[in-house]
Amino acid sequence: METQIFKVTSIFENPDALQQASDILARGGLVAFPTETVYGLGADGLNEDAVHAIYKAKGRPSDNPLILHICDTEMLPQLAREIPEAAIKLALEFWPGPLTMVLPKTPQVPDAVSGGLDTVAIRFPNHLIARELIRRSGKPIAAPSANLSGSPSPTTAQHCIDDLMGRVDAIVDGGSCGVGLESTVISLAGKVPTVLRPGGVTVEQLRKVLGEVCVDPAVTHPMEEGQKAASPGMKYKHYAPKARVILVDASRDAFAGYVNKRKEDGVFALCFSEDVAALEVPAVCYGGTDHPEEQAHSLFDALRQLDAREAKLVFAHCPSQEGVGLAVYNRLLRAAAFDIVKL
Ligand code: AMP
Ligand code: MG
Repeated sequence: METQIFKVTSIFENPDALQQASDILARGGLVAFPTETVYGLGADGLNEDAVHAIYKAKGRPSDNPLILHICDTEMLPQLAREIPEAAIKLALEFWPGPLTMVLPKTPQVPDAVSGGLDTVAIRFPNHLIARELIRRSGKPIAAPSANLSGSPSPTTAQHCIDDLMGRVDAIVDGGSCGVGLESTVISLAGKVPTVLRPGGVTVEQLRKVLGEVCVDPAVTHPMEEGQKAASPGMKYKHYAPKARVILVDASRDAFAGYVNKRKEDGVFALCFSEDVAALEVPAVCYGGTDHPEEQAHSLFDALRQLDAREAKLVFAHCPSQEGVGLAVYNRLLRAAAFDIVKL
């Protein structure tokens, strides 16, 4: 299939490109587009064939459900059977923004979107291009990250081109994504609100609004054999470059000492900018030690750079788990397949 690239610098300067991309969505086609979290691979979320095409283009397991993206809270009742008080509080505080809510679904939501579950994940993104595409297409847009399943999520149009050229109808190039990690996913379908995936909206922020909020154990621990995943996406290996990644939880000096002892061809450090001076192996930085937002913004591009430089073994300096750091830690743990060394 031929993939069209639409360059959109702003919704005011390129309305024709936006209209063409929206028309493709409305017709049941696949369009990759920027959001404030990562690039999404969108399709009409109420069109079962279009949704199946997303799974095929990404090579995504069919039981890993998709997030529906809306551009107006008026779209909610068509998709969610119940809208609890907690959902209204969170919407008022964090929408539009990097927060996805899991709610009981209506029968209109195809099983292909929900992965056969009785719930649906919904987000109102804060990116003008994303919102304009949804508005013009007139549909809730199902959109997982626009990468091949298993590889690091895309935060630039070039990442989407690298993964999906020839597999989707169009890619909207709207520059790089601000947050750089996927949205926070919170389930409001059970007794206690539960974070299934950490992201740009932090657990601390959610607790301020709702009081009690649980964090699913799968956020920071591998799942037991046979355990049922609250968020099916959690059970798959994710965000991984081709190299083996080992997460090293250590002070700056101990990290440098540990890595330098293991200097060999193909060994790289994935580290903070302050680490570089003491390292004797090639290093790719993912932000400053005390800057979790910067780490979130840079992590996926850094993982892709390691592939481009043909890294074989990567020692990644473990981030703090405070605030947005929890999301960075969660993605790195999965990139490392939970291989972590504590010094
Ligand atoms: P991605 O589209 O790549 O950002 O992944 C979407 C994430 O949302 C995956 O981790 C899914 O498991 C999760 N998700 C989507 N729908 C549901 C749902 N109904 N219940 C629980 N988790 C969901
Ligand atoms: Mg993804």
